Amino acid sequence: MHSIERVVAELEYIAAHQRRTGKHYLVTIHDDTFTLLPTRAKALCELIAGRNLGLTLTCITRADAIDEELLRLMRGAGFINLSFGLESAVPSVLRAAGKVRPPDWPNPDLEPERRFVEQVRTGVIAAKKHGFSVGVSIILGLPSETVEDGAATLRFVKELPVDYYMHNFLWVFPGTPLWETRDRYGIRCEVNPLGLPATTEHAYDLTRLRPWPKCSLKEEAQFIRLLTTDSLYACEAGSTREKGIGVVVVNAPELSAQMAGWLSVILKIGGVVIQTYPSLNRSEQDLKVDSDRRVFTEYLVPARYYVQVLRKPDIAVEERWLATFRGVDLYRRHKPKVLSILSSKGPSPLLYWVNGVTTPYALCEVSEYLEQPDELTHFLGRMRECDIEVRLQRMPVPPGVKYPGRWQKGRAPCLQLRRMEVDAQGKVRSCRHGEPIGTVGDTRKDLMQRLAGFVHDAEKRRGCAECPNTHCPRCPFPGINEQTYCGIMTKQYRALRFLDFIGLYSRLPIILESQSERVGSG
Ligand code: SF4
Repeated sequence: MHSIERVVAELEYIAAHQRRTGKHYLVTIHDDTFTLLPTRAKALCELIAGRNLGLTLTCITRADAIDEELLRLMRGAGFINLSFGLESAVPSVLRAAGKVRPPDWPNPDLEPERRFVEQVRTGVIAAKKHGFSVGVSIILGLPSETVEDGAATLRFVKELPVDYYMHNFLWVFPGTPLWETRDRYGIRCEVNPLGLPATTEHAYDLTRLRPWPKCSLKEEAQFIRLLTTDSLYACEAGSTREKGIGVVVVNAPELSAQMAGWLSVILKIGGVVIQTYPSLNRSEQDLKVDSDRRVFTEYLVPARYYVQVLRKPDIAVEERWLATFRGVDLYRRHKPKVLSILSSKGPSPLLYWVNGVTTPYALCEVSEYLEQPDELTHFLGRMRECDIEVRLQRMPVPPGVKYPGRWQKGRAPCLQLRRMEVDAQGKVRSCRHGEPIGTVGDTRKDLMQRLAGFVHDAEKRRGCAECPNTHCPRCPFPGINEQTYCGIMTKQYRALRFLDFIGLYSRLPIILESQSERVGSG
């Protein structure tokens, strides 16, 4: 262990950083078991409390390594969140996993494991009494576990007064005892060409077990839906202003080795890759999703998020997508709505929103509408009557507009090429209706130069240099007739200001998320 003086010195450094930056964030103690030595933890908490650091802290620990006094001291030191490792509520599974006693413990009586499960229950209740936000983590797929055992563990969690629980799947690492004995339990693992271990099969299909409402994965799934909605039809990469390519949308039914190799070079570390698939049946989907994930891992593409988006058959003007991401596949099976994205090919969701009616659409297309002056006049009329402020206070955020950069004030956001799209033939574009600006294998510099060439040609063709409109982004590929585009950009100020506003507010959820470390700067 580090000395408690050293730990407190580091916490003082963090406190100074928070005071300096004005940023107050939760500080995580990353030890596997913070209270492994309760006496030491008590001394540390007393020292932290004595220094009045004003930090809010969180940690994970074991329920058999806490007591009332320690909980009281932890609250005094600034801990607001506490998570207990439960893993399983079935004593025989805990024994096989060696959580409390080693699997080969001479005494077969499982009393120590039964006592441990009870300690988790009493530990959670005690921590709640002390005002902590409390969670427990479970691991499904542990050695000897059956689907009934897994269900029993979930039932136990459901009875606990926790604020959340972590629904983990067993992942076996070389060098652990289980790596040597895995075959005995029907657990299959492999090591990929890069030496990275993967657990490919468990004794039963873990995704059969439905997650409970307080599952922390739900938040992750909701975030994946937000991120995908924000990236699917965008003109730039989220809210990052950093150099480099932050988002790549791959519109292809397969991730080729060539594509993955190129992405591993051109994508910035911590970037996002969204791959969209044409409509496929369920078994084809599963095959594609798994095989593309292998390729993605093998080429070490430095993405923080690789989201695979499955297209469902369109209905009339509606595009339906189902996002999936390693770790939240469970929701794809049990609660697909959490990962579903509805996109309208027309403007109606926005009209409904202006009329105070919510719809399930996350995205809509307005270009056709802007082309029809009568419809536009009607729309502007509705807008005049609608009190936007009131709408925002009373309604969810408005649906997003596809490729909003076309209508926004200032230069076309894609010129910095922080986001791009690639099709199945390897053609690279700034957006789905843009001209190809290169192919897989090209450098970002080449692509940006060609895009700048298209912008130059478009401006020359349109006579932008003589145009008094300084607000126009001069989008090179507006997806509508150029003359109409110029007409809208020079005459429809009110509609455009409204779209600016919608462009901002529809992105509020992802902007707020991007302030949390989840998105981070990679
Ligand atoms: S060309 Fe226009 S529509 Fe396409 S990404 Fe750029 S700004 Fe958006």
